Amino acid sequence: MILHSIKWRLQAWHGFLLVCLVSGLMTGFYMFERREKLQAIDAELAEVMTPLLPRYAPPNSNGPGARGPGNRGPQRPPLREGDFPGPDDGPPLRDDPPAGLSEQRPPGAQPMGNRERSLAAISSGRFYFIAWAEGGERMAAATNAPANLNPPKQAQPNQGRILRTQGENRELIQFVPSGRIVLVGTSLTQTLAQLHKLALALVLIGSGIVIVGFAVGWWLASRALRPIAEISQTASEIAAGDLSRRINASETESELGQLAAVLNDTFERLQATFEQQRQFTSDAAHELRTPVSVILTQVQSTLNKERSGVEYRETLEACQRAAMRMKKLVEALLELARLDAGQTAGKREPMDLSQCVAECVALVRPLAEERKMQLQSDLSAAPCVGDADQFTLVITNLLTNAVHYNRDGGEVRISTRAEEGSAVVTVSDNGPGIAAEHLPRIFDRFYRADAARTSSQGRSGLGLAITKSIVESHGGTIEVTSEVGKGSCFKVCLPAA
Ligand code: ADP
Repeated sequence: MILHSIKWRLQAWHGFLLVCLVSGLMTGFYMFERREKLQAIDAELAEVMTPLLPRYAPPNSNGPGARGPGNRGPQRPPLREGDFPGPDDGPPLRDDPPAGLSEQRPPGAQPMGNRERSLAAISSGRFYFIAWAEGGERMAAATNAPANLNPPKQAQPNQGRILRTQGENRELIQFVPSGRIVLVGTSLTQTLAQLHKLALALVLIGSGIVIVGFAVGWWLASRALRPIAEISQTASEIAAGDLSRRINASETESELGQLAAVLNDTFERLQATFEQQRQFTSDAAHELRTPVSVILTQVQSTLNKERSGVEYRETLEACQRAAMRMKKLVEALLELARLDAGQTAGKREPMDLSQCVAECVALVRPLAEERKMQLQSDLSAAPCVGDADQFTLVITNLLTNAVHYNRDGGEVRISTRAEEGSAVVTVSDNGPGIAAEHLPRIFDRFYRADAARTSSQGRSGLGLAITKSIVESHGGTIEVTSEVGKGSCFKVCLPAA
């Protein structure tokens, strides 16, 4: 569960990066500090070494205190182990204090020279030195120098100076070509303790930063992902049956806000579709109930007592009419179901719409003549591709409606033409027209502008719904314009062949 959670995965990456970054920075800082401290110690070691060299390891020396050509001052005796050179031993090398070796003197006292500072540093016990003669025997050493330290070996010939860390000591070793060795060292205990404290402080600070960063990341991730929890909650409620629920999409600018808006839109349409479906089922049941009731009532009342042959005949004729109505209704429902399932999409053949219309006009003409209506056609070639049987159904529906809803002696016109990549059919009449409030709904299933009157005439309100489905399944459009008292005009556009 945790492994699949986006929040936990985000947190894991965020935490990993944070730990890497913080530990990298802290380690870098620690290493820098450690290097700085060691460099300062190394500088001090070099400074302490400087005045010792002329005494214990002058270049080309053959014996203790030997001086090379150009060496200054009189020859001095070597220091014994535990002795420190006095202030007048050897010339001062520099008077300015070197980096890392601080000068401590009372106010008003003369500044110390290098030699004095070096000796003072050794006297204070912070530094020690050991000098080895050519043969490896100790010539001199400070009292605090490690007793069992053997003369170091040169790793490479002609190696002058080496720095090394021996246990907790830092040492600078000077090899002189004559074979003498001078070592200056100091204890790193204090420095290591400081570094240890620094490491501890850095670990604490780093842990603090990681914990705070993790907490802030957790808060941010929770905040950013909260809408997802809301979306999921709402979707669950909708799945449980409450189709009216919507996601509270307050932050519409954010990505999740936009997703919530899209989902709300989808839920809206889903609800509308479910509503339509529910309405359709209830309407279909209602439409079928009427003829079934008629049949049952007729049969029941006829069977109540003995009837004459004429009466039986009348009952059977009423039942036949009701059954015919049911048949028409069931056929219309089946047609709609087939259209909804897309089962009629396969049949596509090139045809001229004007020929199809001419056949339909011939079919409907007797109906129009019965009501003394003018049925006028103006047919031009209108090539298109589609199912001729379905187009016949479309045109017959429009023509029978134009005749059915028109007044006696009215006029119906039908025309076909090719127009900008379309085959167009228009069916117009000068009947009572359709009121504006009904116009948007007349293509809905079972919708009748005057339901009370039309249902008694066997009109189910499915004709235009089927017409629209067929036209749209062919990639066409159907639209209606109507004016109450003046008539209606239906225009169908189908893609040209
Ligand atoms: P019905 O089987 O009831 O005719 P339709 O789907 O064909 O169902 O039509 C839906 C409604 O549209 C009808 O009930 C009617 O009120 C209206 N209608 C359709 N065609 C016309 C027309 N030519 N003139 C006036 N009203 C029409």
